[in-house]
Amino acid sequence: MNYKEPAPINPHEDDPFESMMSRFDIAAEILELEPGIYEYLKTPQLQVTTSIPIQLDDGTIEVFEGYRVIHSSVRGPSKGGIRFHPKVNISEVKALAAWMTWKCAVVNIPFGGAKGGVKCDPRNLTRIELEKITRRYTGNLLDIFGPERDIPAPDVNTDEQIMGWIMDTYSMHIRHTETAVVTGKPTYLGGSAGRREATGRGVRIVGEAALEKAGIDPKNASVVIQGFGNVGAVAAEEFVDIGCKIIAISDVTGGYYNPKGIDIQKALEHQRTHGGLLKDFDGGERISNDELLEMECEILAPCALEDQITRHNAGRIKAKIIVEGANGPTTAKADPILEANGVIVVPDILANAGGVTVSYFEWVQDRMGYFWPKEVVNERLARILTESFNSVARRAERHGVNMRIGAYVLAIERVANTLKLRGIYG
Ligand code: GLU
Repeated sequence: MNYKEPAPINPHEDDPFESMMSRFDIAAEILELEPGIYEYLKTPQLQVTTSIPIQLDDGTIEVFEGYRVIHSSVRGPSKGGIRFHPKVNISEVKALAAWMTWKCAVVNIPFGGAKGGVKCDPRNLTRIELEKITRRYTGNLLDIFGPERDIPAPDVNTDEQIMGWIMDTYSMHIRHTETAVVTGKPTYLGGSAGRREATGRGVRIVGEAALEKAGIDPKNASVVIQGFGNVGAVAAEEFVDIGCKIIAISDVTGGYYNPKGIDIQKALEHQRTHGGLLKDFDGGERISNDELLEMECEILAPCALEDQITRHNAGRIKAKIIVEGANGPTTAKADPILEANGVIVVPDILANAGGVTVSYFEWVQDRMGYFWPKEVVNERLARILTESFNSVARRAERHGVNMRIGAYVLAIERVANTLKLRGIYG
């Protein structure tokens, strides 16, 4: 055992990049990472800010800001989604890109990490305007993207159609159809069976593994889900399938609580007929976001945005297990509080890795030009996530640390070993 006292936690840890670095520093100490490798691995390889001028439907011109950060391509082409959000910024994208590097390493797929974003509010944009933003963003980043270089995917507020436009724009420029340049596409355009559900499915797979490890029967488990989008809603359905009771869900319109269990199909139907929102959903009592997070339950799955569980509310969390469907929902300063209270955290870089795992399958299928049935995708996904869960749990036990630090240790060691074998060119 070579565990040492962790480095002091960074005071700026509410900044997502600093929050990521706080955990990186603890893992680096455990691994006794040499200073040069430490410096190499913490520094993003490339950071791009690009302006995206488009003509809105009313004829006026608006200039949006877009980002792409490649954190690492040590283990393979860089991989990571693109988010459209009014608050996205370069520091957040930098953190998310690094998390992609560690996530791909945790599940041992041959990718590095990247992330992109466009500062915009998709709710105030028409489909035509979104298409223009997507195509101009792709055009600006044409020399960065590529099936062997950097491969985008969906993230917050981006969907299959947007991935289709990226594929088409890239293909038009290079003069042939190149489906493997982006993942999360519609199946008509080379998408993989099971990709849309993969992240939520993965949340359930590792959540189920955590329940088993804690000796809790899923039939006796109540689950709270923050965020009812592509990740949270699918995770909810999956947890119901294994016998859990979903006692609360939420979206931007607030939380909904029902101790008897929320009817998830009814919530999905409500969402479909109410502009994608849960507003006015009558299948549960209205609760606030704070009440939802602090609810007594077996599993709390934050599946929305960063910085939801912080040093301010961590002490009031009553969940036995947190499964992080979102990226970075817990700040570094909340970690020791949760640990002291015995809350088991299945960290984001493991818990939401189902998405990028099936993205990897999609990329492989596109490059082979041969597509697998959904059962094959799901079976391979379950195998990778279950093995990764066990590897992370073993690493955590070996070093006497929580699962988050166990996951960072495993990931950083894999990237560092690859880097040492490749050597430094220059
Ligand atoms: N945006 C997703 C994530 O954060 C998926 C990334 C991908 O499939 O490349 O993991």
